[in-house]
Amino acid sequence: MTTAAERIQQLRHLLQRASYAYYALDQPIMEDEVYDQLYRELQELEAAHPEYITPDSPTQRVGEAPSSQFESVSHRIPLYSLENAFTFADMVAWQERWQRYWRSLRREEPIPPPEYVCELKVDGVALALTYEKGLLVRGATRGDGQRGEDITSNVRTIRTIPLRLAVENPPPIVEVRGEAFLPLARFHQLNQERQAQGEAPFANPRNAAAGTLRQLDPRIVAQRQLDFFAYALHLPEGGSVGENPAGEPQSQWQVLNALQCLGFRVNPHNVDCPDLEAVKAYYDHWQTARHQLPYLTDGIVVKLNDLTLQQTLGFTQKFPRGCIAWKYEPEQAITDVTGITVQVGRTGALTPVAELVPVQLAGTTVSRATLHNADYIAKLDLHIGDKVVIHKAGEIIPEIVRVFPELRPPTAQPFTMPTVCPECHQPVVRPANEAVSRCVNPRCPAIVRGQILHWASRDALDIQGLGEKLVQQLVTKELVRTPADLYHLTAAQLLRLERMGQKSVDKLLQAIADSKQQPWPRVLYGLGIRHVGSVNAQVLAAQFKSVEELAAATIADLCGVYGIGEDIAQAVHEWFRDAAHQALIADLKALGLQLAATATTVPTTGQPLAGKRFVITGTLPSFTREAAKTLIQQHGGQVSESVSRQTDYLVVGEKAGSKLRRAQELGIPCISETELIEMCR
Ligand code: NAD
Repeated sequence: MTTAAERIQQLRHLLQRASYAYYALDQPIMEDEVYDQLYRELQELEAAHPEYITPDSPTQRVGEAPSSQFESVSHRIPLYSLENAFTFADMVAWQERWQRYWRSLRREEPIPPPEYVCELKVDGVALALTYEKGLLVRGATRGDGQRGEDITSNVRTIRTIPLRLAVENPPPIVEVRGEAFLPLARFHQLNQERQAQGEAPFANPRNAAAGTLRQLDPRIVAQRQLDFFAYALHLPEGGSVGENPAGEPQSQWQVLNALQCLGFRVNPHNVDCPDLEAVKAYYDHWQTARHQLPYLTDGIVVKLNDLTLQQTLGFTQKFPRGCIAWKYEPEQAITDVTGITVQVGRTGALTPVAELVPVQLAGTTVSRATLHNADYIAKLDLHIGDKVVIHKAGEIIPEIVRVFPELRPPTAQPFTMPTVCPECHQPVVRPANEAVSRCVNPRCPAIVRGQILHWASRDALDIQGLGEKLVQQLVTKELVRTPADLYHLTAAQLLRLERMGQKSVDKLLQAIADSKQQPWPRVLYGLGIRHVGSVNAQVLAAQFKSVEELAAATIADLCGVYGIGEDIAQAVHEWFRDAAHQALIADLKALGLQLAATATTVPTTGQPLAGKRFVITGTLPSFTREAAKTLIQQHGGQVSESVSRQTDYLVVGEKAGSKLRRAQELGIPCISETELIEMCR
């Protein structure tokens, strides 16, 4: 067992390394969300064991000391970091904390009303700007909060930072703070340019902004077109902003207005909120709406509006007590792998699955993650017992994206792929050119179960009521060995199964009988031929009007079909050469399933995509570009190469590039492959 002291040491070591890579090198070695979670773990451990806290712990420090390239300057007023909240409960706890602290200072006075200003937390680099007699004399980075780097000549190139304040008779000295950032469009363009020149791309816009501000040549900084939002103002005691009749700002809201009077750009989405409920509504809105913004944000910043109250509350060693950053829900989480189980799919493929300590992620509890195959595990260097990062975006199955070998407990065990099938105990094979091990026993119960479930699935024969538990019983009791057996099931047999009453038996038998009317493309998909997904099945069924035609097709015939590649052709051809498959087709035919096209199989009028123009970008999860194109065309849509105002939809896959940006700029709806298939129905 790792002791708390050892764990603290491990975490500190890792976080220090990450912090240096992030602040000093602008080359992060982990995602911010992962850093935040490890940081939280360290904070919790230190809270439970305060005797281990040391001044060099990442929890006790702000940022990194300035690098040596630029002159180091000390800040007249320190720049603090912000405390992080991740949930509404954290926000409520923060409100209670500042109120308790107020009470400890001013026992007799009532607690001031909790009025807040909410600002977007733009993911960039904090800058401290000093103006003397209205002129910009210094621009500095935050550094470690006490000392930063003097990057004045670079700051001067940012067009939204005024070189002279826009008021008559400004106070003798004015300090403005805000966030310098790289808009997303510039970030993508910059990375394309870098890649074209053989340079490594920046990991994210924040690193790109930080790296840009550390350029020694201000001409390069000017080309990069950084932008800036101002959010804080420090005036000398009693100072006012030029002709501002209200004098020194009394609230954060007045600060934002004063900054605009001085000629700064202030984020237009800032709002004032009377209470935490209103703050929550703002957060909930921006948690999704942020994706429409032309720059990255990683949360919102909530500040007490009353500046006197903020001043009274003061600072901890690291944070102001009257402000907090409420970070957006992470799409990554850290958890422990407790075991690796192996599942056998309908094609016999053995898939290792990580069993996890359940963890909340993007609104669901995740307790398993796919590991694909043995190579994937080896590449991750995953051991049972490891601490890992899991990622889940949208509907996608969670995946392990990172392992922390630094945090590996001594009891962790390596994993080896089994050499026999965990289900039927027959030896597995792994062809030399494949990453996947397979069970090749056609009678393996796992394979049969998978095939029956696939046959009954929504896009195939769509047999409602034939779920996993029932299929398990049917296969174990050997009532069903192939899809054809489903059509011979009797009410008496089904009534003997668990949880099957007369009503559900009648319904199931009806659903099985009705499935005989499902059209040829669905039946073809239901056969579960390798590489023949529902779209390829439609493409093939449109070309080969009957099972006989398809079975007789040569590899060359198959490859000649628009959208069908060599792998698919090979798989289809082989499938029909197998005697068991030939027997299955004969059975299905005798039972009256639709193994040929009828007049209604391929609709000719009222096609769902009629008149719509599509553009495809990136790598789609299951279709080739050509297959997606064929699908769209077969459903009445048109496909063009470039995005224009005439485009109705952009179909987006992984690693989408400039087309996605262009579509976002033009406000064209972006859809996934799944959504495209859905539209075709
Ligand atoms: P922070 O980024 O969480 O918050 C403070 C910063 O927010 C300020 O310095 C300012 O730059 C910014 N900000 C944006 N909008 C603001 C607004 N309207 N008002 C006030 N401030 C605003 O804190 P930090 O100390 O700069 O950095 C800690 C964060 O950095 C961590 O939470 C982590 O996500 C990231 N980090 C990541 C790694 C990594 O390896 N990926 C390493 C170290 C730190």
